[in-house]
Amino acid sequence: MNQQEAQQHLQSLREEIHRYNYEYHTLDAPSVSDYEYDKKMRELLDLEAEYPQLVTPDSPSQRVGAEPLSAFQKVRHNVAMLSLGNSFDEQELRDFDRRVREGTGEEVTYVCELKIDGLAVSLTYEDGVFVRGATRGDGTTGEDITVNLRTIKTIPLRLHQPETLEVRGEAFMPKEAFLKMNEAREEKGEEPFANPRNAAAGSLRQLDPKIAAKRNLDIFLYGVGEWQGESSSSHSERLERMQHLGLKTNPEWKKCGTIEEVIEYVHGWVERRPDLDYEIDGIVIKVDRLDQQEALGFTAKNPRWATAYKFPAEEAVTRLNDIELSVGRTGVVTPTAILNPVKVAGTTVQRASLHNEDLIRERDIRIGDTVVIKKAGDIIPEVVRVITEQRSGEEEAYSMPEHCPECNSKLVRLEEEVALRCINPNCQAQLREGLIHFVSRNAMDIEGLGEKVIAQLFKENLIATIADLYKLQREELLQLERMGQKSVDNLLKAIEDSKDNSLEKLLFGLGIRYVGTKAAQTLAQEFETMDELSKAGVETLMQVPEIGEKMADSIARYFAKPQVLELLEDLKQSGINMEYKGPKKNQGPDNSPFKGKTIVLTGKMEQFTRSEAKNIVQELGGKVTGSISKNTDLLIAGEDAGSKYDKAEKLGVEIWNEEEFANALT
Ligand code: NAD
Repeated sequence: MNQQEAQQHLQSLREEIHRYNYEYHTLDAPSVSDYEYDKKMRELLDLEAEYPQLVTPDSPSQRVGAEPLSAFQKVRHNVAMLSLGNSFDEQELRDFDRRVREGTGEEVTYVCELKIDGLAVSLTYEDGVFVRGATRGDGTTGEDITVNLRTIKTIPLRLHQPETLEVRGEAFMPKEAFLKMNEAREEKGEEPFANPRNAAAGSLRQLDPKIAAKRNLDIFLYGVGEWQGESSSSHSERLERMQHLGLKTNPEWKKCGTIEEVIEYVHGWVERRPDLDYEIDGIVIKVDRLDQQEALGFTAKNPRWATAYKFPAEEAVTRLNDIELSVGRTGVVTPTAILNPVKVAGTTVQRASLHNEDLIRERDIRIGDTVVIKKAGDIIPEVVRVITEQRSGEEEAYSMPEHCPECNSKLVRLEEEVALRCINPNCQAQLREGLIHFVSRNAMDIEGLGEKVIAQLFKENLIATIADLYKLQREELLQLERMGQKSVDNLLKAIEDSKDNSLEKLLFGLGIRYVGTKAAQTLAQEFETMDELSKAGVETLMQVPEIGEKMADSIARYFAKPQVLELLEDLKQSGINMEYKGPKKNQGPDNSPFKGKTIVLTGKMEQFTRSEAKNIVQELGGKVTGSISKNTDLLIAGEDAGSKYDKAEKLGVEIWNEEEFANALT
């Protein structure tokens, strides 16, 4: 390649990588795998090394991340938040070690840490109080996501000591939360997140902190930007001090005296990686002594005293034999790839969800294709790409059917959804999936009713709705395959026992859209009986803390359906309990000033955030609502209270300032 060709190739590589950076860092929606990205980046670095005169300051090799989103306030980092250089094999780790020892002219000790796959964030504490949290952004300027970070329970709002410092870490979504969230997203017809990293980033870069609060995020802190009066002399000492302050650090770090020990640590984690509850994408190796770190310094993009060993992508190649469709409880039709069995990351994979039609089209997946499989979040098998070079021409393009594969009614694509749905309420597949949900552990918890038995019950026409479950006869069940006397008796007993369940289990089991276990619990506690709940309109439902407009609307619409009322009546006739049996709602202590009162919060308080104040009032038996009306008993007003204050005055509602509120708590 001559210089002119190199110039042209560099230009196109840079444009491509810029685009990937933008998709990954700004939109949280990558279009290529990390492996492909890293390969491109390597190509760029190699070519730039060959032609150093062609390196430009705006090359992705010289820049961290991507521009912050304009929707957020910008935060300038006093100390730049950099990326890390990569190592992909043992040789590169040894090269790193050699450069480090040559650079310092001394022997070094390393600290090895897990490389958590999440979103880099910076947390600032002033005199021990959490005042600001930001994303890394382009390294110099990040986004202010303080409100979202406050929702992560493992971030202390106050440290054990009044230190002033800025620490860095990785906010992440644990694997299980990721799986659950993607399942729920698919049920709702939304696009699933590509991996836990994008899910964490997407959650923290929402403008509404309520969304982040629901996402079960967590954090590990691993570094320091600035620390006033810091006395540590090594990174390991820092980690220990951070932990003493109440900052959550990852317990798996290890000091290693030689690069051989580092390599051993790396190998150990390649094996143990699937056992972790969270995703890691490598190991970070850092020089321990801070004076040596300082001596080594930084390149434009990375510290010279650290490297990230990236795990090889756990991918496998196989043939896609067919695409099967399944209809979920809410009618969403999901395509699944049927594969030649292949081993990936420790297990044999035969099926991989293709999520929706758009994905099949975007990746141009055809039946008969040779495909690359990997596990997203280490767990869910996914078709990453097609090896088009291996096509024979016999492959068949796939398009989703227009009719439900189960009941043949016409499928629809609801506005803003990526999924196709069957909207026939009597679709067998939906009823069957609905029943599987109804008997599941968090719902009615009926043991002995596996998917196979349920499928048989439907096939034999023994059951058409949930209510029929309670009408099953012993003789009918005995006729089913693999159902002996003992299992039939056990099953009938489990069905009978479930009649006594408390209301929240039934509520969750009904599968009302958006009503998960937590909302079911809240609703049952608040309304106490199915009758009361079914009569509550949207307005009343929205008065309940944690029930938003979307859920309230869905509940009200559910109970307005005649077939639902029929079903409930049927269940009642069979003797199913429709009352809440759990602990009563928190009434607050008898001497609580808020007990039984309806309270509105407004303005800014110094000592409490809005959600802290709300929690306190609720703990003490008060009900917090959003707007002033004649039913409001008390307005608690901080600074700059505005229109609610005026309205409360007009209506003669009692008003307290922050001091009066704080005094009432002592
Ligand atoms: P990086 O992910 O290679 O490493 C740097 C980051 O590691 C730090 O910023 C920090 O957030 C994180 N980290 C996790 N644990 C850590 C620990 N214990 N100590 C220190 N840091 C730790 O670099 P990057 O700049 O964040 O992103 C580049 C990488 O992102 C690429 O190599 C690629 O894998 C991926 N990427 C993919 C695409 C795509 O389109 N698929 C696009 C851009 C980037």
